[in-house]
Amino acid sequence: MIDGQTRLVGVMGWPIEHSLSPPMHNAAFAALGLNWCYVPLPVPPDQVQAALVGLRALGFVGANVTVPHKQAIIPHLTTLTDAARAIGAVNTIWIDEERALHGDNTDAYGFLAALREIAFDPKGIRAAILGAGGSARAVAYALGSAGAERVGVWNRTPSRAEAIARDMSALFPQTTYEAHQLPGDLHLIREPMHLIVNCTPVGMWPHTDACPWPEDLSFPRQCLVMDLIYRPEETRLLARAREAGCMTLNGISMLVHQGAAAFRRWTSVEPPIEVMTGALLAALQQ
Ligand code: NAP
Repeated sequence: MIDGQTRLVGVMGWPIEHSLSPPMHNAAFAALGLNWCYVPLPVPPDQVQAALVGLRALGFVGANVTVPHKQAIIPHLTTLTDAARAIGAVNTIWIDEERALHGDNTDAYGFLAALREIAFDPKGIRAAILGAGGSARAVAYALGSAGAERVGVWNRTPSRAEAIARDMSALFPQTTYEAHQLPGDLHLIREPMHLIVNCTPVGMWPHTDACPWPEDLSFPRQCLVMDLIYRPEETRLLARAREAGCMTLNGISMLVHQGAAAFRRWTSVEPPIEVMTGALLAALQQ
């Protein structure tokens, strides 16, 4: 029941009406009997600063931040975690007792937690990232922090892949980062390749026939193919990889774990992962 004691969190984005985070977090609050409420916060691009003033004035504990505000919000925050600074994007904010605003990026944590759930250890692996946007930066950061041996970034616009390779090489000198052109340079991939991660929206609903992996290219043997997309649950990339005998993983568990990290930050309570996953899967069916 919402009453005078209810603590508020939410998600700022534009548009925001299709976000799966409200059902996921509210199911977790209900399961734990926490008097908290998570609301969608539609914030147009020119209202980010005003929205933050509003959140502070209204006593919000924090918020998630999604497209298109993940970068634009940074100048308005007092502190950033190392991950948020390195990735250059914020997906979680929290507001302390002095009403100061702090930013974190939980995508890298969510990505590694999703791999851990299937007992896949990135230490010493060779990985290929498709895309060089915000999520690709988070994955490149996560793989460096987990001790990957070699990480290639393939992108349609090579300069963005080069920027990730340069920035992450400086942070994680033990990992070799390289930049390549998508899709042509995918033919240059040599085995062993242990992990391929799609960080582009290619194949996302409603364009479910699209696939970032060339039709005439086979998949490396014994490779885990991960797609950050979760709508549809099995993209064309994952279906092709599965048929080729690869292990596959969609973006659902990463989405749950990045949300779980935010939940932990706000409430200091251990989040109910199974409840959150169930709520997310139910929301995806609607
Ligand atoms: P973003 O910052 O907009 O970056 C998109 C990337 O995809 C860019 O590198 C872009 O290349 C590339 N791209 C877009 N359209 C393309 C096309 N038609 N052909 C080839 N490359 C194309 O997006 P993002 O935030 O990284 O998100 C990417 C995907 O990850 C989305 O589907 C999002 O839903 C998903 N995601 C999932 C989670 C999760 O928890 N599961 C978390 C974050 C994101 P250019 O640089 O050339 O434009």
